Amino acid sequence: MPIHLLTAEVAGKIAAGEVVERPASVVKELIENSVDAGASQIRVEIREGGRRLIRVTDNGCGIPSAEVPLAFARHATSKLDDVGDLDRIATLGFRGEALASIAAVSEVTLLTRPRDQDVGLLLRVDGGQVTHHEGHGCPVGTVVTVEHLFRRIPARAKFLRQPETETGHIYTIVTHYSLAYPEIQFGLTADGRTTFQSPGNGQVRDVLLAVHDLDTVEQLVDVEPPDAPGTRVTGYVGLPSLHRANRSYIVLFVNRRWVQDRSLAHAVVQAYHALLPVGRFPVAFLFLAIDPAEVDVNVHPTKREVRFRDGQRVFATLQRAVRAAVTSHAPVQAPGYAPRSWPGSGWDGQQAGEEAVLGATPATQIAMELYRTADEGEQLQPCGPVRLPLLRVVGQVGQTYIVAEGPQGLYLIDQHAAHERVLYEKMSADHRQHAVTSQALLDPLVLELDPLLSGMLSQHLRALNELGFAIEPFGGTAYLLRAVPPVLGTSDLRAAVVDILEILRVGSDPIALSAEQRLIAAICKRSAVKAGMVLAPEEMQKLVRQLELCELPHTCPHGRPTLLHFSVEQLEKGFARR
Ligand code: ADP
Ligand code: MG
Repeated sequence: MPIHLLTAEVAGKIAAGEVVERPASVVKELIENSVDAGASQIRVEIREGGRRLIRVTDNGCGIPSAEVPLAFARHATSKLDDVGDLDRIATLGFRGEALASIAAVSEVTLLTRPRDQDVGLLLRVDGGQVTHHEGHGCPVGTVVTVEHLFRRIPARAKFLRQPETETGHIYTIVTHYSLAYPEIQFGLTADGRTTFQSPGNGQVRDVLLAVHDLDTVEQLVDVEPPDAPGTRVTGYVGLPSLHRANRSYIVLFVNRRWVQDRSLAHAVVQAYHALLPVGRFPVAFLFLAIDPAEVDVNVHPTKREVRFRDGQRVFATLQRAVRAAVTSHAPVQAPGYAPRSWPGSGWDGQQAGEEAVLGATPATQIAMELYRTADEGEQLQPCGPVRLPLLRVVGQVGQTYIVAEGPQGLYLIDQHAAHERVLYEKMSADHRQHAVTSQALLDPLVLELDPLLSGMLSQHLRALNELGFAIEPFGGTAYLLRAVPPVLGTSDLRAAVVDILEILRVGSDPIALSAEQRLIAAICKRSAVKAGMVLAPEEMQKLVRQLELCELPHTCPHGRPTLLHFSVEQLEKGFARR
């Protein structure tokens, strides 16, 4: 076939394919237009999964009668003027393609009236051609009705799923937009039945309650943005007790636009590093507010993907915000879904009670707090960091793991990772309170280092000296070691310094740490008990007690798990007891 230009009709249908993939894409585009029109109420009606009919009614600004035919022309928009505008897009639409694309693959009826017109306009467009045009009375706003989607495009129609599936996609679109625009009242009616209604009172949490069950919403905590310029992250994230089998509950908005971005979703998953069971994913509803000049939304025809000028920074900001929110809150289990305790093991809360009376350590107080709250049948609520319950050491296996039992099951604790965590929190606290201690050497030690490590040492010299070291340059690549932090002990200090520099050099931490945190983590890693060391029962019990007191006992400073927890339910299931 010789090269030839496609007819406008064929070209239109090809272009439409990019925007209109399925009924939910139509709903998305129409909702976006209603939002851009300043509507405070948006009602979506569908029949047969949207294939038979989609109708979106809004009380927005309406379209002046004279402009209506133009709204259906490709690349016709009221939202963008010149190229410069592309860098500061504040509306959801701007490509001027949606109405044209939708009209190319369906039968569209538009009824619209702006406030300053007495009568509205009714326009029917069939397969891209205007078939009807008349003045018509109607309230201020716009009603777009889309019928028989893809009827004339069998290739597309074939790919449509069951009506229930398409309805599900539409439900997702409507609920996501209602989260992004809590001040707008959204409604969804499917085949005559109202399936969703948002309150429109501006409260995201109230929209979440309309979308999800109470259990889920009660396990969500606020993300508080730090008072820093640049990307702002707000929203709600699930406590570690809330998790799902896939990533679809990680819902992200950039400047109130729902985006599906693998990298951002990954940042959220990473923020939960070692807090969730393997293969499970967090629940998160996050809103990123970024200077429009820093984001390119014009990457994808449906604008589902965006590109950032500084993606790394956005990634790190998001991850930090989520991590901070998750680790500063902990669930208190309400009786309804509290994990079951060991039957008849004494671990019914009584033992914790006794210990609290005898010698109240903070850990026992926290455990008591948990029990008390559960007893009183209160609702789930945040209560400080995710602490460990009181644990009883049973023994050591493989000279590496401590076996312990707690009220909710069995714990396997990695002795090295746990000790790292304990030392790290102690040293970080000392540093914060300017209470770093230092142990002077009787005879200063000369460290001859290779150029690489010497370079690293000089780079970290000041910071190391603030953490309890006293190290001075000694000419060339040599240094004089006069004092060390007491955690390092006294033997083989030369090797200790080299090891710390090595850890810093190779360290690839799964979570983002500041330079200072990395240094403290490296010192603690070198100082912690190693795997393969036999520990006495008292030593294990002491380590476990210290871990219970930690703010983030579940991971080592580098983000790896310190313990594995097997709940009573898991054990019973595993042994087919239920
Ligand atoms: P875009 O949203 O990218 O501008 P569309 O094809 O979706 O392109 O819409 C074309 C134009 O029609 C919009 O720019 C807007 O002026 C007008 N329009 C569409 N829907 C509505 C609506 N619900 N209320 C008011 N104006 C609308
Ligand atoms: Mg639009």
